[in-house]
Amino acid sequence: MDTVEKRVHAFVRIRPTADFAQDMIKFGQDNKSIDIYIKKDVKKGVVNNRQTEWSFRLDGVLHNASQDLAYETIAEKLVSEALNGYNGTIMCYGQTGAGKTYTMTGTTADYRHRGIIPRAIQQVLKAAAHCVDRFVTVRVSYLEIYNETLCDLLATVTSSGTSDVPLAVVDCPEGVYVKGLSIHTVNHEEDALNLLFEARRNKYCSLVIAEHALNKHSSRSHCIFTIYIECNFRVLSDVKCINSKINLIDLAGSERLSKTGSEGQVLKEATYINKSLSFLEQIVIALSDPRRDHIPFRQSKLTHVLKDSLGGNCNTVLVANICGEAVHVDETLSSLRFATRMKWITTEPVVNETSDMRWTVKTLEKEISFLKRELAMHDSLVNRSLVTYDPLTEIQIADIKSQVLKYLEGSIDEIDIVNIRQVQEVFRQFKQLLSQQEQEVEARLRSKYALIDKNDFAAIAAAQKTAGFLTNKVSTCSVFGFQLLVPVQTDLVPLVHLVRKEGIGTSSSGKEIDALLQSKNQLITSTKDLDMKEGVRNQDAANIDTQSSKLAFLKDSPQLSSPPSKPAAFEQFKKECGSEINRIFKENKSILLARRKRSAAVAQRLNLMKQEMERIKEALGAQQQERWQQGEYVDETGQIIIDEEEFLLIMKLKDLKKEYRSDYAELQDLKAEIQYCQQLVDQCRNKLVSEFEIWYNESFLIPKDVQDTLKPGGNIRPGMIPINRVMCLEEDVQDGFERMQEAALPACPDSLSFYTAKMKAEQKHSYSRTMGALEQMRRKPGLITATMRSKSPAPLRVA
Ligand code: ADP
Ligand code: MG
Repeated sequence: MDTVEKRVHAFVRIRPTADFAQDMIKFGQDNKSIDIYIKKDVKKGVVNNRQTEWSFRLDGVLHNASQDLAYETIAEKLVSEALNGYNGTIMCYGQTGAGKTYTMTGTTADYRHRGIIPRAIQQVLKAAAHCVDRFVTVRVSYLEIYNETLCDLLATVTSSGTSDVPLAVVDCPEGVYVKGLSIHTVNHEEDALNLLFEARRNKYCSLVIAEHALNKHSSRSHCIFTIYIECNFRVLSDVKCINSKINLIDLAGSERLSKTGSEGQVLKEATYINKSLSFLEQIVIALSDPRRDHIPFRQSKLTHVLKDSLGGNCNTVLVANICGEAVHVDETLSSLRFATRMKWITTEPVVNETSDMRWTVKTLEKEISFLKRELAMHDSLVNRSLVTYDPLTEIQIADIKSQVLKYLEGSIDEIDIVNIRQVQEVFRQFKQLLSQQEQEVEARLRSKYALIDKNDFAAIAAAQKTAGFLTNKVSTCSVFGFQLLVPVQTDLVPLVHLVRKEGIGTSSSGKEIDALLQSKNQLITSTKDLDMKEGVRNQDAANIDTQSSKLAFLKDSPQLSSPPSKPAAFEQFKKECGSEINRIFKENKSILLARRKRSAAVAQRLNLMKQEMERIKEALGAQQQERWQQGEYVDETGQIIIDEEEFLLIMKLKDLKKEYRSDYAELQDLKAEIQYCQQLVDQCRNKLVSEFEIWYNESFLIPKDVQDTLKPGGNIRPGMIPINRVMCLEEDVQDGFERMQEAALPACPDSLSFYTAKMKAEQKHSYSRTMGALEQMRRKPGLITATMRSKSPAPLRVA
């Protein structure tokens, strides 16, 4: 909109009259200006300073204009903009009898003479009926302001009488409205016109008025007919709502009090009329002055009701109705001045767009039901007729929970996917179970240890200080993101205990926490706990078996309710988690066998060679004997001459000896290799067995809470010991350290640091030794090396 359109539009309409003062009223060529000329008042003398010429520039002059043209000029654009969300106000201002009511309402006798209100109703309802992209609701109200009293002109139309509660103007962030004013939905032009006509007819019956003239009452009240337009339409998933209203105002007569000559009751009314109109004038002056920040809208009911319609976000049009007779020149001038002032007011019309939640909900409900039908059709096409898409019932949720539990226990392999809700519920149940287990473990830890947030360094330091003060020694370890603070109390015989990695579980309830913590790396605990663990460690397999039946939870094999036999489980282990170690073990074993075979062959050949050499030696001996008996021949250099047979025997013996030496060397080499291979095979076997033991314990014997630590996020997984743990800590060193601690620490707790350092050094040394050995093995061609780990004798025999 350009700046011209932002100003209030003002038109002048002259009531047709036979006495039109042609000399006094002149119209401009463009039909937008009106000039008033007054002859010098003879009575007031030759010298008078009264202005005699006035020129008013307006947006249009309607002289002898039909109601059609008047509507087209004044209202049509404003009404069509109201249909797009802009509020609109049309006010007719002027002295009584100037044609305000004719312009605004018109006459009921002739259709052609109908005024702006019936025409606007027609335009709005026609447009509403033709809208295809939106749903339009049209409502109307009719308010009269008489003697500063608000009156609902439609209240008597539809109900038995007016409401007892007086109407009141209410200011709210959404705008000004009249509380208690009846607003009537109209679906057809006829409904709206009926209301209008009925209201006008009842108007004079419902009010106590001055006896002397009905039209006087009419001239002293302001009537505001409002058309409310509500458009709802979809913008993607949102339902947008455009609300607008058109205020069509027939103001009271603007004539001055002095002119009426009224007295008593009528005089009071006249004062009121002019008062509210003079307030309207003040508002108009204030609004046209950009420096004014306070506009006294609340001064009168009329200005208060019109707060939104004047100078707000509204298209405003003023019609100055004037009489053409010379006698009314003062009122005419006054009306034209008012109209010109109105034109100074700037407005900023905006679309009143909101997101209507009520409509959004309604429309989305419709869409949901449509999509449900669509889904049902798709389901029936793929024979999925039993699927529902409603929220899950308690029973369905319980069923999903039991499925999830069964899945975790292993008694079912998969959970069928039915619909999105069910998938979400499955995840929810998983999450719930997980958090339950976490809470249980945490509660247990809390019942035994002081847990401090791992990142709360201040709390850790404070706790360490307090505990250290009491006990002299305190240490921490990290479990589940908490800092586990364990005072090393001197009376409890403190011990640093590096937990064995087998982590055999115990069903003894008080010690479950130890089993749990055994799965973690390193912690400090008391000797009592250690003794318990030692006891547990010494339990034989049978004992473990009887305990494990109580701990059956989260088994790897779904069909098992008690642990499988170790030989059977071992076969399973070799196929699954232990397959890589088993492969290395087998390959090394086959290399060992090949070397052994070769060694046997070489040894056998050496034996044969040895026998052959013995035989040749014997033959040579016989030859020598014979030579001695026959007498030896000596050549000129003194060398004994031998026959060819003996010579050949000697040569053969020489060759055999050479071959024997080479074979013997090979045999020695093979023996060394075999010994080496044997060592490697033994180590592989040990590793296979120890990993199996761990896997077996973790899979079948370790109690639930320890299993919890093996959940994702922990650093241990069933059957899988992290390589860093295997490599960094030789158990021989660890065992030695434990023994040393048991022996040394009780007597001298201060030696803790010393022994810790020593243990670390030994660990390091052991590590480099292991690495050296591995490196040596790697250099042997054809040998596959496996991660080495010494281990206590395996309870299971492996061939
Ligand atoms: P107001 O409401 O300003 O007091 P009215 O609308 O009642 O004046 O008009 C007074 C009389 O003049 C009415 O009888 C009305 O029909 C007539 N009248 C006013 N303006 C026109 C017009 N433009 N054409 C024909 N008759 C008119
Ligand atoms: Mg009137």
